[in-house]
Amino acid sequence: MDDCIFCKIINNEIPSTTIYEDDDIKAFFDISQVTPGHTLVVPKKHVKDIFEYDEDLAQRVFKKVPMIARAIKESNPDIIGMNICQNNGEIAYQSVMHSHIHLVPRYSKDDDFSMHWGDN
Ligand code: C5P
Repeated sequence: MDDCIFCKIINNEIPSTTIYEDDDIKAFFDISQVTPGHTLVVPKKHVKDIFEYDEDLAQRVFKKVPMIARAIKESNPDIIGMNICQNNGEIAYQSVMHSHIHLVPRYSKDDDFSMHWGDN
């Protein structure tokens, strides 16, 4: 989609810190990190939200999440947990209307970080 910020990131028209990419997805650092390593997993096909996935696309996208989560965790021994979240619709704090999955690493000293969906 022409005016979609994530389509532009996928097409490298806007730079991103990409940590993984294949035919189906791109995983890149969120521009506004809730905690260090906050990553978005984004389908390359433009689907607005969970309600627009068919079964095949859902399988190709969501099955990659554990692998990416493990890679993030293994990149830093201080990561001891992770929130995985996916917002659908403005009422649910979705602000970019190209579906994406948040992977938010959690650290032992996480009291230092804010964790408010919709605030970022
Ligand atoms: O779930 P929600 O739609 O609110 O999340 C959108 C996310 O996309 C935000 O965390 C925001 O920081 C991120 N974003 C980004 N790069 C942009 C625009 C938004 O990483 N250029």
